[in-house]
Amino acid sequence: MRTLQISDCRLQIWSTLVLGLTFAVGLSTPCFAQGKPAADLIIRNAKIWTVDSVRPEAEAVAVLGDRIVAVGSNSDMDAWQGSTTRVVDAGNKRVLPGFNDAHVHFTDGGAQLDQVELNDAASAQEFAKRIAERAAKTGKGEWILGGDWDETKWTPAQLPTHELIDGATAQIPVAVNRYDGHMVLANALALKLAGITAKTPDPPGGVIVRDEHGNPTGCLKDAAQDMLFKVVPLPTHDQRRHSIERALAYSASLGVTSVQHMNPEYADIAVYNELLDEGKLTVRIYAAPLITQVDDQTKIGIKHAFGGLYLRIGALKAYADGSLGSATAYFFEPFSDQPGNRGLLSDEMHPISLMRDRMMKADAAGLQLCTHAIGDAGISAILDIYSEIVKAHGSADRRWRIEHAQHMAEHDFGRFEELQVIASVQPYHAIDDGRWAIGRIGRDRASRTYAFRTFLDHGVRLALGTDWSVAPLNPMLTLYAAVTRATLDGKNPKGWFPEQKLTIQEAIEAYTMGSAYAEFQDHEKGSISAGKLADMVLLNDDVLTIDPVKIRDVKVLKTWAGGKLTYDAEGNK
Ligand SMILES: [Zn+2]
Repeated sequence: MRTLQISDCRLQIWSTLVLGLTFAVGLSTPCFAQGKPAADLIIRNAKIWTVDSVRPEAEAVAVLGDRIVAVGSNSDMDAWQGSTTRVVDAGNKRVLPGFNDAHVHFTDGGAQLDQVELNDAASAQEFAKRIAERAAKTGKGEWILGGDWDETKWTPAQLPTHELIDGATAQIPVAVNRYDGHMVLANALALKLAGITAKTPDPPGGVIVRDEHGNPTGCLKDAAQDMLFKVVPLPTHDQRRHSIERALAYSASLGVTSVQHMNPEYADIAVYNELLDEGKLTVRIYAAPLITQVDDQTKIGIKHAFGGLYLRIGALKAYADGSLGSATAYFFEPFSDQPGNRGLLSDEMHPISLMRDRMMKADAAGLQLCTHAIGDAGISAILDIYSEIVKAHGSADRRWRIEHAQHMAEHDFGRFEELQVIASVQPYHAIDDGRWAIGRIGRDRASRTYAFRTFLDHGVRLALGTDWSVAPLNPMLTLYAAVTRATLDGKNPKGWFPEQKLTIQEAIEAYTMGSAYAEFQDHEKGSISAGKLADMVLLNDDVLTIDPVKIRDVKVLKTWAGGKLTYDAEGNK
């Protein structure tokens, strides 16, 4: 953790200097301009959407070191241009602040880029075929992992079973996850290695799916997954580093300059530190380890957003419940299609006082809370705990978050506002789950699902993200989802609960400033403003003016993080 503890004085001096200079430039005193250092980078002829209400649109931006020093017209940049300045002509294309994905599983995402791809398998047969093909290429002792399968894309939409894949995988253990991460399918060999049989009871917060004879089918829900994962070998350091390096390059190619890594392993943070020391950490990371490890951060006395510009910790990720797709999100009333089932509170909530105690401890230490809650009763239970903390500890700038905030009870929108809880939401989930959510929870509850507009109407701040690898990392798909709400099956072209659509400006703001606020970094990034970090993206089309349907096809031309080019579609760096 050595690197995390370095307080970067040089940066503070720079930013003071830069802010001072910018103020002076505003006065446009020519004699002062002569003494000004040349910018390292100037982007001209751009359509810049700054996400800064003081100057929402601009034509050009100048960067010195890792900071923006001027934003304005092309001619405003003349005073900053010197012989060493690199000038980029944006060709009248759109520039935005770099995207900040408020909820990713970064190492899993990077690993997924190399794993078997099951998400777009359109049938159980195709699913089985792809696993068989992977098995033929898999060495002895290795596992087949990942996959992100989605049985709702099959006809009939039935959960897979181990029998489907056992024939091709007799010697190779398989643990392929459902795309939402709340269910995994094990083959017969993996079930055997994990010691899961007909006699194994369901663990608290989990379900072993069984056939009519009580035999495990191979599907394990929520906490039951841990019984399998404990026998899956952990990735080696080199494998982990490889996944993270893949994820960093992939993020840059999509214009993502900051990510907030939910429930990382400490070994992931160690890799980030290693890359930081080597100058290879090209995406800014805020890491929120599981709340089960709360003591580790409290005992070293750190608070929220502790660290440097590229790597911070000081937040904790908690789980209230499961997911809608796995029918484990926790609701007040049963699922419409499963009358006996209201879902599950997570194992961290057994009993709820366990969660309350951990959260009280975290809050007393000044750590931030980011709590996964999907069902209306799961969300309510967390808001109850948040209220109790305010009663016990008084008010403060805590920036508590509820991750997903998916299915809201009517009366809880006001509680979000009152407690100033941030809704950390993933619009792509809306156009994905929107295919089938009404069948599972009915129209009334679905009307308060991914209710982005209602949150804004209540003065609740949004932070946007993807939940990658659960959903694609590409910000264009997130923006497309937020502004169209057109479900992936093409059945709601005018939008699924269209009254909840965001405007493109609102979506961009939530994905840049909103996400920066959610990690206590809105003073450093999230807008193209003088003094802030030069994290920017140049797009090949104008997301603000094109037909919203076309937003999903927009590509990134260049990405800069701290003024450094981290991606160039033309291959230059
Ligand atoms: Zn997640």
